[in-house]
Amino acid sequence: MKTAVFPGSFDPFTIGHKDIADRALKIFDNLIIGIGFNINKPGKFSVEERVKAVAEIYADEPKVKVLAYSGLTVELAKKMDAKFIVRGIREVKDFEYERNLADTNAAISDVETVFLPARPEYGFVSSSMVRELIANGYNPSEFLPAPGNH
Ligand code: ADP
Repeated sequence: MKTAVFPGSFDPFTIGHKDIADRALKIFDNLIIGIGFNINKPGKFSVEERVKAVAEIYADEPKVKVLAYSGLTVELAKKMDAKFIVRGIREVKDFEYERNLADTNAAISDVETVFLPARPEYGFVSSSMVRELIANGYNPSEFLPAPGNH
């Protein structure tokens, strides 16, 4: 059983995130979508709202589990018996930071990181862009997979 954790703030979960999760499901038997939160940095959507929105999308998919976590992603991976972390790469400049994260995680655990390239048509729709659109009165629903997200 190959299990992976897909970590992120997912504030909110966009269609680009969903694309990465769906592609990860072709590789792994189980996918834990880990919604990272920091009590000192509340987001636009509460962590409960984020968990609910993503859980609704995958309600009929037993291979996906959605949960909130704080702390190191490798600790979540260990707890969930996952040997892999999945990350989406949107732009080339993401790569340096992500490689550093992957190498650090590999140095402190036996958890490996798998990168999946974001499709260009979804890649520009980052969570922060969606938050910006919402804050400025736009309805970004066409970019979002979940009705609960806007
Ligand atoms: P983080 O702060 O951990 O990067 P995000 O929620 O922004 O949290 O992103 C979670 C993961 O999804 C990251 O690997 C990120 O590169 C990827 N990602 C973010 N936006 C998109 C998108 N529009 N398409 C594909 N992948 C994305």
